[in-house]
Amino acid sequence: MESIKHRYSRQRETILQVLRGTLEHPNADWIYNKTRRIIPNISLGTVYRNLSQLVESGRIIRIKDDAVIRYDANIKHHDHFRCTSCGRWYDIEILDNTVIESFNKKHKFHIEAFNLELEGVCEICL
Ligand SMILES: [Zn+2]
Ligand SMILES: [Zn+2]
Repeated sequence: MESIKHRYSRQRETILQVLRGTLEHPNADWIYNKTRRIIPNISLGTVYRNLSQLVESGRIIRIKDDAVIRYDANIKHHDHFRCTSCGRWYDIEILDNTVIESFNKKHKFHIEAFNLELEGVCEICL
């Protein structure tokens, strides 16, 4: 019989794999529905709890999208583009160091980190 500890870690790894398998930046409900196909008896509460633990341990990131909380398995630094038509989130890399350097020169700031969220209409919707 499977130990409880092993079951918990299997649930967490499955949730992580589900999230890693998509570029959708999904919310917890979406993740729950996908995970349920693999672990039919998992509860939404368990999914939420595991997502929090994964965020705390730095294995995934949490994004606020108005009232919705989304999750992202891409933990490398990146920026986002949100489609105002379909609501999809895309990973983008828009700023390179030259932009930061010229900004630092122009203003008397020193940028150490940035997080960009751009909005517009995506290719699919266009
Ligand atoms: Zn779109
Ligand atoms: Zn992302």
